[in-house]
Amino acid sequence: MDITLLGTGTPIPDADRAGPSTLVTSGDDGAEKVLIDAGRGCVMRLAAVGSFPVQLQGVLVTHLHSDHLTDLNDLITTHWVMTNEPTPLRIWGPPGIGRFVEHILAALGPDIGYRIAHHDDLTWEPVVDVVEVDPGDSFAVGSMRVAVYETVHAPVEPTVGYRIEHDGRVAAIAGDTIPCPGLDRLVENADVYVQTVIRDDIVKLLPVPRMHDILDYHSSVTQAAETAARAGVGTLLLTHYVPAPRADQYDEWKAIAAARFDGEIIMGDDLTKVTI
Ligand SMILES: [Zn+2]
Ligand SMILES: [Zn+2]
Repeated sequence: MDITLLGTGTPIPDADRAGPSTLVTSGDDGAEKVLIDAGRGCVMRLAAVGSFPVQLQGVLVTHLHSDHLTDLNDLITTHWVMTNEPTPLRIWGPPGIGRFVEHILAALGPDIGYRIAHHDDLTWEPVVDVVEVDPGDSFAVGSMRVAVYETVHAPVEPTVGYRIEHDGRVAAIAGDTIPCPGLDRLVENADVYVQTVIRDDIVKLLPVPRMHDILDYHSSVTQAAETAARAGVGTLLLTHYVPAPRADQYDEWKAIAAARFDGEIIMGDDLTKVTI
């Protein structure tokens, strides 16, 4: 299985970092692909690794925060216009994702009408299969098994993480969360644990009160490392960096994690990839 950080950014725009989005591939030549979250620029980053939305077996949504979903409309439209017959884009997410997709499709209504009117061979509207999931649910995406776990990102509710298994390997994709029992179960003995993180020591010093609000609902680098150590994971893969580090600061971030976790720690630019 390959895990690629398509976007390592956050709501703060950054020319070098797309919004939160992670690609998990498995099978021969990575033929099976599942996207976790659909942040800003995810379709461009997907193209950068040689993939298009039509090749996705599914999209897993961790929560309804806009930075994790803002390009779901692009995924839906691009998937639709690149198919030759009605083909569902399959989306799993917590309760509320169905309504979110309904509203996207309503907003796209004029565009859908224009394209159907203009192209004789495009006679159908986008087909989006949405399944709302709860902690404890599990399902198959191609030959990958996916299990859903509860996370804590209050006041954002519900939020979930996904444990993806293939061929005896496990990728645990946590999304935005603080340490909690559901997170511990999600990442237990995973080969790779992907965690969105903030540097609480830096954010505390920022002269922007609104930024201080994010301290109470994200894992710090230290907390992510503690979760990884407690759960016995192999590799800790950090993403969604607040504040965005320069490349020459990655070692400093990793050293903070290494103080609590002695496994492999990886972070980097968009398109950083881990193979398990
Ligand atoms: Zn969030
Ligand atoms: Zn976020």
